[in-house]
Amino acid sequence: MTEVYDVVVIGGGIHGVGVAQAAASGGYSVLLLEQHALAAGSSSRSSKLIHGGLRYLEGHEFGLVRESLTERAILLEIAPELVQLQPFHIPVYPDTSRRPLALRTGLTLYAVLGGLNRASRFRKLSHKEWDALDGLETRNLQAVYQYFDAQTNDTELTRAVMQSALELGASLSCPAEFLSAHIGPEDCEIRYRDHRGEKSCQALALVNAGGPWVNAITARISPMPAPVAVALVQGTHLVLKDSLEMGCYYLEAPQDRRAIFLLPWGHQSLLGTTESLYRGDPMEVSPLQQEIDYLLEVLQHYFPGRSQTVDDSFAGLRVLPAANSAAFGRSRETRLAVDNRIHPRVLAIVGGKLTGYRATASKAMNILRRSLPARKPRADTAKLVLRPAP
Ligand SMILES: Cc1cc2nc3c(=O)[nH]c(=O)nc-3n(C[C@H](O)[C@H](O)[C@H](O)COP(=O)(O)OP(=O)(O)OC[C@H]3O[C@@H](n4cnc5c(N)ncnc54)[C@H](O)[C@@H]3O)c2cc1C
Repeated sequence: MTEVYDVVVIGGGIHGVGVAQAAASGGYSVLLLEQHALAAGSSSRSSKLIHGGLRYLEGHEFGLVRESLTERAILLEIAPELVQLQPFHIPVYPDTSRRPLALRTGLTLYAVLGGLNRASRFRKLSHKEWDALDGLETRNLQAVYQYFDAQTNDTELTRAVMQSALELGASLSCPAEFLSAHIGPEDCEIRYRDHRGEKSCQALALVNAGGPWVNAITARISPMPAPVAVALVQGTHLVLKDSLEMGCYYLEAPQDRRAIFLLPWGHQSLLGTTESLYRGDPMEVSPLQQEIDYLLEVLQHYFPGRSQTVDDSFAGLRVLPAANSAAFGRSRETRLAVDNRIHPRVLAIVGGKLTGYRATASKAMNILRRSLPARKPRADTAKLVLRPAP
């Protein structure tokens, strides 16, 4: 007998599991299909920050920053084992392009958008504190600003959200590859393949949370919804041998003035990231030698005494609006594309941030509700505690 769901979600990254949790908490039956493993795509290859995105203020993306800071506050509250506040340090030298006045203005705005709570505080460090900063170059150093943002383990967070969805009654099929869907006036006929072979099911709504695969999934749907014009931009991180004692560093790459983070990562540290246009198979993305060289040059510039030993490296793909401008300046807003505004059956999540997954999932469900029957909600995702999955 064909299984029938309210919602089928394709993709077990942070957005897919977020929608599964939002649907299940809204009282809907939901099945999530993931072809490899939870967080196999971009959701295990991010900078692992739960942040408002201080630099997005330069692009005047105030709405995105405010929403992300609200989500940061919620996640600090509901996932204390998975999301922790960290001090971030911004050093200023004579050639730093973001000058102290601009930094103070930006940090003040960031604090206001963050609701002026404990996590919004910032200050200028005294000279006496500079020597404790993990070997940061102090020659010509003019100032160091400290503010707070949060760090997580993206894979663990994705698993925890899925675990919460499962506890609310969601179903998960993994590994299971979505093969095709036919969208009718009343429902969707979906075909997928798991370890036992090909299967089919029905759903009232289909969510394409395929991340970098979003348009490959769209191409398997008939009638085919309009694909969204996107560019895949790879970002590489290096896992460095040495740990950090004082928290995180927000650096300006001397080569091109892009923001680079040096972050504690257990007994190691994480350095990233880069931006290189990518046109290949999303599963094959891997660090390029020029990206590794670029990041090590940044490390050498700011931390000349630190070990350059690279224990590991990984690359992930951002899904950004297609444009001719530099990737660094392009919007990080999430887009929700539907096949039909009045009776949406297919919704695609395009782009977005790990940080905003809960808000995005809730917006996606609000849109899909137009095509779903009324159900009794079971929980509020802003209050459900997230714990590391067993
Ligand atoms: C370098 C980099 C750094 C970043 N840093 C941050 C950060 O610090 N903070 C932050 O908030 N955000 C950050 N982001 C953004 C964030 O990582 C992504 O927005 C988020 O992980 C995207 O999640 P997703 O669920 O949309 O996609 P993905 O995680 O890629 O998930 C898509 C899933 O779909 C599955 N799939 C594809 N096709 C099929 C199919 N046919 N059948 C079944 N399953 C399928 C894939 O296997 C994959 O698991 C960063 C991104 C990058 C690339």
